[in-house]
Amino acid sequence: MDFSPGISYFLGQLGKAFLEPGSHISFLSLVGALCVALIVVAARRLRKGRRIRVKTLLRALFPKRIVMSKSSLADLSYFYFNLFLFGIIFGWALLSYEVVSHGVAELLTAAFGARQPTALPTLVSRTAITVMLFLAYELGYWLNHYLAHRIPFLWEFHKVHHSATVLTPLTNFRVHPVYMCIFLNILAVFIGAANGAGDFAFGQTTHQYVLSENNIILVFFIYFYVHLQHTQLWISFTGWLGHLFMSPAHHQIHHSRDPAHFNKNLGSCLALWDWMFGTLYVPAAEPEKLEFGVEPDRPHAHTIRGELFAPFGRAALVLNRLIERRPPAAPLSAPERNQA
Ligand SMILES: [Zn+2]
Ligand SMILES: [Zn+2]
Repeated sequence: MDFSPGISYFLGQLGKAFLEPGSHISFLSLVGALCVALIVVAARRLRKGRRIRVKTLLRALFPKRIVMSKSSLADLSYFYFNLFLFGIIFGWALLSYEVVSHGVAELLTAAFGARQPTALPTLVSRTAITVMLFLAYELGYWLNHYLAHRIPFLWEFHKVHHSATVLTPLTNFRVHPVYMCIFLNILAVFIGAANGAGDFAFGQTTHQYVLSENNIILVFFIYFYVHLQHTQLWISFTGWLGHLFMSPAHHQIHHSRDPAHFNKNLGSCLALWDWMFGTLYVPAAEPEKLEFGVEPDRPHAHTIRGELFAPFGRAALVLNRLIERRPPAAPLSAPERNQA
């Protein structure tokens, strides 16, 4: 049997994930996050008048209790699953953002007439569409996340992400394929609509600025703090900054087991949409004591059975309960009964 196509697919996906500078988990962005983390931990030790030793810093950033936990190993399994299998299994279920974009541009042209190509410098129109698409991504992310928390059927699939009892950058990949499927389709609608509106407004196809096909603003945040959102390092943005940007502490609050924190901070890089829709919780400057996870005694937690297959059964139970609770249909009137 020839295994070479499988091996080259495996290596290709691995290369894309770690070597492309704009990928969600590029080697360079991990180095960026590590530098930010090292600077923060070193500065805190200096402020307390403690010595800075590489060994102490590394122990603070990679505690054995977290790295070797069952929860982290489950994150690793999901990382492999989403990197290598998700595209093959669910690729067919995804809406194309290009189709949405064309549809919206054509709809706007039919409603308002064709526009002349813009006289704005390319730098301005491309910057504008880069910002528009980033805001559309964030809004789509917020809405999908909101629905995943508020609709009990969808929560059963999103709960997999919240069942992590420790946070590491790989927890970002601990997402159920059903959640991913809905997320990518919602994104296609939001980004496609924004792109179509932009093409119409500028009277021509206008391309955003990208790095390895990812929006450049999103890539900036990935390098700066997105990886640190899934760590236990408390870096919080407060005041106006905390109303605009989703600091690592904002997202750690989102994972908290304290009911006061439930359904808060649903954005990705920005806190802006949470602020606008009333789901924002600005963290304190000093670390808040948090515990992570849901249903700690759930059977088969952190196993493939518990995190990949069981959500289907639990979601089916939720549906079943909904159907059983439905009020009985009104009794048929006499003539209808005769016809039946
Ligand atoms: Zn969530
Ligand atoms: Zn998370």
